[in-house]
Amino acid sequence: MAKAAGTVIINTEMCKGCELCIPTCPQDSLALTAMLNKSGYHFAELVNNLCTGCTNCALVCPEAVITVYRMPKIKAAAAVAGVSA
Ligand code: SF4
Ligand code: SF4
Repeated sequence: MAKAAGTVIINTEMCKGCELCIPTCPQDSLALTAMLNKSGYHFAELVNNLCTGCTNCALVCPEAVITVYRMPKIKAAAAVAGVSA
């Protein structure tokens, strides 16, 4: 099976900055920002493009604010290039 490419969308306004998601990421793709959200929490963000869509982060997030998107690498590359796979 081809390795997948993925990405995450984080609802940063609902993040509580607990950091549980960060060590679960095998790609070191998550970190807390220096910025604060409206509730006063530093929030998690995607910091590189190595996400595989493994869903570890979404599974541990107690606030359920992480949505994972995953697609086969060939389609991801085609999307970046602007062509259909
Ligand atoms: S889905 Fe997996 S690889 Fe992607 S950010 Fe979450 S833990 Fe990291
Ligand atoms: S686990 Fe959820 S609430 Fe905690 S820092 Fe990560 S995104 Fe924010």
